[in-house]
Amino acid sequence: MPRIKILPAILRNKIAAGEVIERPASIVKELIENSIDAESSEIEVETFHGGKRLIRVSDNGTGMDREDALLAFERHATSKISNDGDLFDIRTLGFRGEALPSIASVSKVKLFTGLKGSHSGISIEIEGGELKETREAPVSGTSVEVKDLFFNTPAREKFLKTNHTETFHIIDTITKEALSHHEIAFTLTAEKKETMNLPRASGTRERIMQIYGGEFILGLIEIMAEDDETRLYALTSNSSNFRNSRANQFIFINRRPVKDASISHAVYKSYEGIMPRDKHPVFFVFLEIDPGKVDFNVHPAKREVRLEDKESIYRFINSRLKDAIKHERTEYTRDFSISPDAVSDFQSSDRHLSLSGSSVVQEGAFISENLELMYRPSIPFIYLGDTFIATSGKGGLTIIDHHAAHERVIFEKLLKGMISMSGQLLFPLQIRLPANEYRILLQNMNIIKTLGIELDDFGHNTVIVRSVPDELNDADMGGILSDIAAGLSQGVVSGRSLREGLAARIACHSSVRGKKILTQDELFSLLEALEKTDHPDQCPHGRPTRIFYSLNDLNKLFKRK
Ligand code: ADP
Ligand code: MG
Repeated sequence: MPRIKILPAILRNKIAAGEVIERPASIVKELIENSIDAESSEIEVETFHGGKRLIRVSDNGTGMDREDALLAFERHATSKISNDGDLFDIRTLGFRGEALPSIASVSKVKLFTGLKGSHSGISIEIEGGELKETREAPVSGTSVEVKDLFFNTPAREKFLKTNHTETFHIIDTITKEALSHHEIAFTLTAEKKETMNLPRASGTRERIMQIYGGEFILGLIEIMAEDDETRLYALTSNSSNFRNSRANQFIFINRRPVKDASISHAVYKSYEGIMPRDKHPVFFVFLEIDPGKVDFNVHPAKREVRLEDKESIYRFINSRLKDAIKHERTEYTRDFSISPDAVSDFQSSDRHLSLSGSSVVQEGAFISENLELMYRPSIPFIYLGDTFIATSGKGGLTIIDHHAAHERVIFEKLLKGMISMSGQLLFPLQIRLPANEYRILLQNMNIIKTLGIELDDFGHNTVIVRSVPDELNDADMGGILSDIAAGLSQGVVSGRSLREGLAARIACHSSVRGKKILTQDELFSLLEALEKTDHPDQCPHGRPTRIFYSLNDLNKLFKRK
């Protein structure tokens, strides 16, 4: 009697389901990808109880006839590839023929499908992998209804999270598919509420604006590049749009959302020397690669890929992004001008700045990091680049990172409720946000209010900002809210309350956009305010705000002692 036996189909499918279906969002992904492969132009998603009770994905695609509809639930049944060669020339999102049988083995599925335009389709009911019923149904396109996920695998059901968290993952999944398929309309109705509504868009930029609002796009640089093998389209942070988390970073290869550490690294590396160490860019990277040079058959959920020429793709992305960022940066530096009162302040004082080999002085008193600086020793403040200010006094030289100093001051003011509020904004801001960020902000309006930012729900993934601390008047509210949302979803991090974490994120924004040169008065009051804080020497992230060299230190540095 042999001990080894071949497992029955239902059990085999359950095992396969373990790899493909981790949570409701995995089902949403598979079903949407099937709808995309079926050339749909509209995809509607409906979920209930975070997708645990119900997921319904409906499309207006090609549909299936009766025979195909029944075959679709067989394992390894696919219309997308048929031979060896196809496996290395994949042009569809699906190809494994595993999704439908896997889903059907761990839930109660009802499929409605009919060839496009025919209106004489079929409905099929399957429960835990067993065919229950087939009927005629007057449909065109396809609708798949998935109920009671993991009803027959309680061990897996236990791993599911709250409805809220599962919805979060579903929104994330739809966002990714929507970003790489702007020509398709997507809607999500979660818990009977319209949660996403993205009409067909003319291009990726418009799709991004639909998701993030119009302001968001202003903080991005657009890059298009091509070489023999690869086409790149990217939208990435400009040099004044860094965030405090890795949220909103996307990579697509041949319109498929993927995770790829090497490509991420190539993007980060492009910001070297421009982006502070603990900051993160927002990016949308779309790569088109010859399907023969990329293997998608690596991960059961197709999240990862193997690239034939990883290094050259790394270099390609890195060099193109770096050029674009540098170019944008040059424009930005050229635009860098100081406010009129700062000019008069400079002119009226007896300070003199002279720059070697540059016309910058005529344009304003900004001193670029690249320019050599000569100065008289009596100057009380000298700007070194747009971050550092050197000043003498107290028997030595102090170098101040004025952004860090500002962060410390605002951080403590926010926490202690010492912010100045000129009351409600005359023109409350409307800010559109990605659905996930919107939801988490609304749930936490009260804690956010204690930090001086008063929000209201405007519906349609839009919040109204009714009041903000005066200190944040010029800041990018969209960026701040997005960072607050990231902080909230991260929760409490070690050694610091949630409120402190949020205050640090907000404080950060009040200074990143500090494109302006401070007047002498402003600088004095900044230093005065810094002196009054509990920890004047460190910004809320632990970086120094100022470094002091006494005469003694200088003597040592110059080896005079
Ligand atoms: P795969 O997508 O890897 O081929 P699936 O199990 O997801 O495998 O689907 C099996 C087959 O069912 C597909 O190859 C396709 O022919 C058909 N199918 C699935 N969903 C749809 C849909 N929404 N519209 C039309 N055909 C579909
Ligand atoms: Mg599929």
